Amino acid sequence: MNHAAQPVLDALRAARPETVATLSDLIRIPSVGGSAAESEIVHHVAARLRAEGVEIDLWPIPVAELAARPDFPGMEVHRDEAWGLVARLPGSDPGAPSLMFNGHLDVVPPGQPATWSIDPWSGEVRDGHAYGRGACDMKGGFVAALQAFLALHRTGTRPRGDLLLAAVVGEEDGGLGTYATLERGWRADACVITEPTALDVLAANGGALTFRLRVPGLAAHACARTSGVSAVEKFQLIFPVLRALEASRNRAVDPMMRRWDIAYPLEIGTVRAGDWASTVPDLLVAEGRFGVALDEPVDSARAEFESTVAQACAADPWLKEHPVTVEWWGGQFASGRCPAGSDLVQRVVSTHAAVHGGAEPAVVGAPYGSDLRLLTAAGIPAVQYGPGVGYGHCPDERVSLDQVHACAETLVHLALPE
Ligand SMILES: [Zn+2]
Repeated sequence: MNHAAQPVLDALRAARPETVATLSDLIRIPSVGGSAAESEIVHHVAARLRAEGVEIDLWPIPVAELAARPDFPGMEVHRDEAWGLVARLPGSDPGAPSLMFNGHLDVVPPGQPATWSIDPWSGEVRDGHAYGRGACDMKGGFVAALQAFLALHRTGTRPRGDLLLAAVVGEEDGGLGTYATLERGWRADACVITEPTALDVLAANGGALTFRLRVPGLAAHACARTSGVSAVEKFQLIFPVLRALEASRNRAVDPMMRRWDIAYPLEIGTVRAGDWASTVPDLLVAEGRFGVALDEPVDSARAEFESTVAQACAADPWLKEHPVTVEWWGGQFASGRCPAGSDLVQRVVSTHAAVHGGAEPAVVGAPYGSDLRLLTAAGIPAVQYGPGVGYGHCPDERVSLDQVHACAETLVHLALPE
């Protein structure tokens, strides 16, 4: 172990109450994607870093300009503004490899308040956990990275290569923040995204493509319904075909994805049809997400989906003449994986094991998309390693504080290799 790590760990441990308070503070800022608070939280973090004398790059993201680019990763909420933030701790050796910690500060909406036992924006601490929307996904992980970074900075400890802390927005609906950070020119030789993994090492993500189906029908008075065509009935022809497509795409999956019952899920999340209770519905609009396999190009995934829908339409007299249309909109997450040639996975695994003892963390893939694919596509080996798991996007979201502290200690050691 690098002897320079000890004073940093001492500072980190002494700052544990501050770590918890910082996490609660961040949870209390309701930084739902597209809200004013999404920008507010970036400025809040930037002000903290600036007050500590940390070198930061805080810039307004040219949202409209980036959104018009062909490789833009998608966006599902309206944004008039968004901010990028990167903090930098300069390394002692300009030629040494740099490391980035990456974490998103946006969260999804809390859902129905009645489903929560506490205020989703309380940041309450109870039974060793911090509670609230975003506690797990992923303000807990962000704070672990922030506190590791600050402990290095405060003790005047310089890693050999630059250490970057990227605070990003828009992750939940596509990846605007990380995309903008890369467009800004920020690069590193490796990146740890502190998304919740329960301190396992997540080295690959399936992708997820948001789609919209428009199923046509023919309106008629419901009292003479046989003179119309119900778009709802026509959708009933399509849905099982999509379930079958999902099954066929999950028959053989990469070994890293075998822990999931469905590695590449296809789900319809919203269905809207008709405009009047006693009218045969002439349109059904269904929106969903379509899982992309590891190493599968997005274009071929889309083509398989579209041809499956087209074949189902060809088998029905009405849909043959009035086919279902497929639109790709919103988040378009390609799959991604840490490149095989990188030693990053092994570095995180062995560092975690050396610091915390016990069994080595599992190396896994996950069925959801993340910013990992934007980083690996830019040539930056990336993994996810962070506190908490399974409680994102749900009521009573929480994160284990022990895991937040443990993650921060691993990150210090990663920044200070032998
Ligand atoms: Zn997340």
